[in-house]
Amino acid sequence: MIKLLEVKNLKVSFNTYAGEVQAVRGVSFYLNKGDSLAIVGESGCGKTVTSKTIIGLIDTPPGEIKEDSEILFNGEDVLKFSQKEWQHYRGRDVSMIFQDPMTSLNPTMKIGNQIAESLMIHRGMAKAEALQEAIKMLEVVNIPNATERIRQYPHQFSGGMRQRVMIAISLACNPQLLIADEPTTALDVTIQAQIMDLLKELQSKLGTAIIMITHDLGVVAGMAKRIAVMYAGKIIETGLVDELFEDPKHPYTVSLLNAVPKLELKNKEKLVSIQGTPPDLLAPPKGCSFASRCKYCMKICKIKYPEASWISDTHEVTCWLQHPSSPKINLAEDIRR
Ligand code: SF4
Repeated sequence: MIKLLEVKNLKVSFNTYAGEVQAVRGVSFYLNKGDSLAIVGESGCGKTVTSKTIIGLIDTPPGEIKEDSEILFNGEDVLKFSQKEWQHYRGRDVSMIFQDPMTSLNPTMKIGNQIAESLMIHRGMAKAEALQEAIKMLEVVNIPNATERIRQYPHQFSGGMRQRVMIAISLACNPQLLIADEPTTALDVTIQAQIMDLLKELQSKLGTAIIMITHDLGVVAGMAKRIAVMYAGKIIETGLVDELFEDPKHPYTVSLLNAVPKLELKNKEKLVSIQGTPPDLLAPPKGCSFASRCKYCMKICKIKYPEASWISDTHEVTCWLQHPSSPKINLAEDIRR
């Protein structure tokens, strides 16, 4: 497999009046061409900051991308790009879909013009040709009566339709990478499923690599090939979907799995929430960030950050439970099935 994206030791901080918030603290991962990766974690864990840094949407200042960070796209470090190179990369090579399509679309512009705009900028099309392509793109994302629809404004579309339009805009220039940041959060459940199915279908049809950002492990099961779990600005476990769902090795991954609502709750079982709160990233702990919420916390966990352990070629975890001298605990038994 050919690597499309390699994020190496990414560190992003925000300088605030209260001090330096260390939002992303040494994140490394890769994505192969045409592949799919879900980055999962609670709000504030750094997943959106990571994705926005990849596409160059972090304002610096107050943001600060630390010097030893690298983001290699087809082998080139995007963090060293000039302004002009960023403009080509963003929209043509990489595009992003955000949570709320209403705030991402321009309410004063017709839908067709909004799709055509990126085709004119990045693919040098004339307006008439770009509008014809816009009709095709609306058909690709299953919007009926596309010829009429391109003349309408965003408020004339439902929430699900607007997100389909955003997907059409994102894919119009045939990017190599699509970042979807909680793309279904603002939609109701049935529409969420339709949008996820559409993304999956388009990924296999167009061969676009996808990074899915979500707080909900439930939505990634049928969508992504690999999962990276983030907590307090670091990736704490990464692996193939089956590895993380069937044999998680980090107590936080187990907690996330148990927080996914099940179709049937047995014996009036209640939904499980994760007790406690994540650490303050103004002063992150020097030991394991999950220590204050972890029922398996040991003395070493509070003193030293755990070393990474490889469970398989594709499954990596940072937890002291993997140390040879730690008690043998089968975390899979903690999962509510
Ligand atoms: Fe729990 Fe320790 Fe593992 Fe952290 S390193 S998740 S505190 S067992």
